[in-house]
Amino acid sequence: METLWPQIERLLAQVTKPARYIGGELGAQVPVHRPDVAAWLLVYPDTYEIGLPNQGLQILYELLNERPDSVAERSYAPWVDMEEAMRSAGVPFFSLENHLPARAFDILAFNLSAELVYTNVLNLIDLAGVAVRAADRADHDPLVVAGGHCCFNPEPLADFVDCFVLGDGEEAVGEVSQVVAAWKVGGPVPGAPAGADPGSRETLLRALSRLPGVYVPSSYEPAYAPAGDDDPHPGAVRLVGTTPRYPETPALVEKRTITDLGEWPYPRQQLVPLIEVVHDRLNVELFRGCTRGCRFCQAGMITRPVRERPADQVRTMVMDGLDRTGYDEVALTSLSSADYSGIESTVTSIIEDPSCSGQVSVSLPSLRVDAFTVGTAAQIQRVRRTGLTFAPEGGTWRMRQVINKLIREEDLYAAVDAAFSQGWRRVKLYFLIGLPTETDEDTLGIVALARRCVEIGRGYHKGVTVTASVGGFVPKAQTPFQWFGQNTVEELTRKVHLLKDAARGVRGLTVRWHDPKATAVEGIVSRGDRRTGAVIEHVWRHGGTFQEWSEHFDLGRWTAALDAAGMTLEDAVYRHRTEHEVLPWDHLSAGLHRDFLWQDWTDALAAHGLEDCRWTPCYDCGACTGFGVEHVVASAVPPAGGSQGTGQDLSTGGQVPVRFLPTAPSGAAPTPGTGARDPVSAGERRG
Ligand code: SF4
Repeated sequence: METLWPQIERLLAQVTKPARYIGGELGAQVPVHRPDVAAWLLVYPDTYEIGLPNQGLQILYELLNERPDSVAERSYAPWVDMEEAMRSAGVPFFSLENHLPARAFDILAFNLSAELVYTNVLNLIDLAGVAVRAADRADHDPLVVAGGHCCFNPEPLADFVDCFVLGDGEEAVGEVSQVVAAWKVGGPVPGAPAGADPGSRETLLRALSRLPGVYVPSSYEPAYAPAGDDDPHPGAVRLVGTTPRYPETPALVEKRTITDLGEWPYPRQQLVPLIEVVHDRLNVELFRGCTRGCRFCQAGMITRPVRERPADQVRTMVMDGLDRTGYDEVALTSLSSADYSGIESTVTSIIEDPSCSGQVSVSLPSLRVDAFTVGTAAQIQRVRRTGLTFAPEGGTWRMRQVINKLIREEDLYAAVDAAFSQGWRRVKLYFLIGLPTETDEDTLGIVALARRCVEIGRGYHKGVTVTASVGGFVPKAQTPFQWFGQNTVEELTRKVHLLKDAARGVRGLTVRWHDPKATAVEGIVSRGDRRTGAVIEHVWRHGGTFQEWSEHFDLGRWTAALDAAGMTLEDAVYRHRTEHEVLPWDHLSAGLHRDFLWQDWTDALAAHGLEDCRWTPCYDCGACTGFGVEHVVASAVPPAGGSQGTGQDLSTGGQVPVRFLPTAPSGAAPTPGTGARDPVSAGERRG
């Protein structure tokens, strides 16, 4: 295979940020390709700056390059200027390591972490010189594979992707490699149907469809029928089932789950980018899964159960990583990092390690306010203090009961107080609008909460800033809210105006919001069925790439595409689904029983909360019971604080379990804001 580097190099002077395209980062590998191994091109379908830090991609990159039957290179979406230069010079999509054409790889594997990148996926397949529709590909064209959270409703991309991997990829990619490598050399293909033509693409796909966690859409047939009278739109054409085409194909594809994160200490050699990227720091994964049970959160639902990395392995990965990369900041990542059992001792042991010499800061993305303590506040970012972010998500306690984010106002105020008391001056709060049962009182509660946080901060510092960042809620597959009809663009826009008006004149408070039009488009894709593929293709063919980027996003392209496909926003996005409606992802399982999700949905409508099952009896959601696995925690002690699972009275909130240090920073007011508290109550709860 011949490198494209000479042709690529000639284009670099014409484009912005040429370093996006050259590779050679610390941690990059330059694999040697062989005819008998499966060659993977791992693609993040957004820019280098967004895609490079992606930990899932980096983990698979290392694992595949360690295997004897595979090699892996990387690529990211070229920005529009580079794409234009490539297309006019006839340079196809290429890899960063050897600068090989994407077509030379056996597998183009896309990471799908957001719906708005789907048009980029089509664009990159096309830029690779591969047929965009899977049905049009020849036997030896690259296999198009996808993984990531969005694969739990893969149907909108079913016409373009040959196979999806559901759940954890660590083990599954090795199994896919084995099948592809065997097929490639014409040997016996594991799992191939008896008597199948060994060299055909169909044989390969049917063999892959027998691997656990691998979904091959061409092996399934969707069926449609006019809706009955119980449907809000009788006569509309609805999906009535998605069934296997072949006897050996499983009727239900279940996700993969690795049971022991301690067996997978990856990435061992995190990539250090050549230019500034998002999350530009060492990242070490603390745990996978989350059982807090926030009903809007797809990531929490589909990654159950909780699997914590052993604390000593976390420390080793941090120390080795800092030493190797030269970073002076490490993020301990997960869906809710303060929930890691023993978080304070882990953070302290990193910061106090002699090799860090007081120069390393630790950040905990996704902080849960009711597990945030002054002790944590004091430890994290002891070296460098940037902004702190909390996500109460709902503006009132009622709203937070509906979404099962059981954070009392006192929880939030105490956490914010803790942060300001330790010297922070900037706090960011994340909220959702357009949630089920939301009233204007709930929406306006956002400003009330944020305003109070400003007041608390003023007790410590003059120039505090609180930013309320507001996103529109998009119902996601495999969650209790999968049946909910999303708010319209107009309704979300009205709510944004309510918030802007209420926040006007509040010094120190800024409200930021996500474009409601982009929220509507996410909704088209997040719960779309296979017919949505025509919409995505139409948008792409009419120039709609980089739809995550506001300068390239255009709702008009999407509504025109819906029109062309005979679909409407009302039906695709804003419509409530009924209990027995067949959903496009019903033949795929994230482990959660459908009846558990429906029960949780009815509990939501009754504003009834559920405790964290990590520390309470199991509700039999299916994620552990169906797979013979269970939560793995690094410590037997629940995390500090918490409305859920730590005995707090869910109806009244109980005592806020925030720890206060005995000393306040110099110049700080004694106990402003949240009222007098016992300064040494150290995480204890009252009755
Ligand atoms: S099976 Fe039980 S313990 Fe496991 S995640 Fe579901 S409710 Fe929690």
